[in-house]
Amino acid sequence: AKGRGRNNFQFFTHELNRLANERLTVETAMRGALERDEFDVHYQPKVDHRRRIIGVEALARWFHPELGTVTPDRFIPIAEEAGLILPLTTAILRRAFAAARQWNRERQTPLRLAVNLSPQLFLGEDIVPHIAGLLSEAQLPASLVELEITENVFLGDGERAIAILRGFKALGCSLAMDDFGTGYSSLGYLRRFPLDIIKIDRSLVTGIEHEGDEAMIARAAISLGQSLLKTVVAEGVENQAQFDFLREQGCDEFQGYLLSRPLPYADFARLLDAETDR
Ligand code: C2E
Ligand code: CA
Ligand code: CA
Ligand code: CA
Repeated sequence: AKGRGRNNFQFFTHELNRLANERLTVETAMRGALERDEFDVHYQPKVDHRRRIIGVEALARWFHPELGTVTPDRFIPIAEEAGLILPLTTAILRRAFAAARQWNRERQTPLRLAVNLSPQLFLGEDIVPHIAGLLSEAQLPASLVELEITENVFLGDGERAIAILRGFKALGCSLAMDDFGTGYSSLGYLRRFPLDIIKIDRSLVTGIEHEGDEAMIARAAISLGQSLLKTVVAEGVENQAQFDFLREQGCDEFQGYLLSRPLPYADFARLLDAETDR
């Protein structure tokens, strides 16, 4: 038995080493990609109940010549641990802000741009002036920008998080609670924090068309958002039955593969051009 334990231990440390090496490989590649400005952004439209495009979410993309496509679910946590989340976010926002300025130049009704902010960014005090700087650099009005946060921003210093959120509001940005319905903390923050938008998580949308428990939970989340006078957005809408259900329940905005996948800039621009009513 002793021998077996030893073997397990060796296997375990070997596995840990392998994982650590793999992480380090991604981290090193990420530093290079940041230096060469290789992070890309895809754009996923958000539509109203009549399916008109009213906004867009910027989503980070990374293709590395040797590692291949690395998904944000993988590289965002590594960026956070490696202290690279600020330079990465800066690169993403620069691109997205420039893109939004470009397409809004040609539109009568401007599109709102949503970007994702990691909770880590709330630990440094100067994130508000930093984003203000990026906005003025791009000459993009703050009123067109929605900042998507998750309730993890409240896990640390809640008072500090509130102060930062108020700073963003003072700039003129809107605030969205992302992944709503997946967290564990109390719902108290919905009253206490200056949120404008609630994004119902995809996991609550999956299966709602079958009128089971899923439908009940989604309905409750939507009506909670409504009674707090927030704009309610549903994400991960994949089929017409889900869209119809969510619209009947009073969702304001919809996002998901049914409407469009996240698209490279050129494809998204073409989609906007193809829209007749603008
Ligand atoms: P998220 O903010 O909740 O973004 C929605 C995710 O769902 C995106 O995955 C999107 O491509 C995907 N999605 C959209 N519609 C559908 C659908 O109908 N069905 C399904 N199955 N999926 C759908 P993506 O782009 O892989 O991003 C994953 C997560 O990575 C994001 O989740 C967000 O938390 C994070 N992320 C992406 N870009 C950034 C960024 O620039 N900064 C930060 N901090 N996080 C980011
Ligand atoms: Ca998001
Ligand atoms: Ca989300
Ligand atoms: Ca999500």
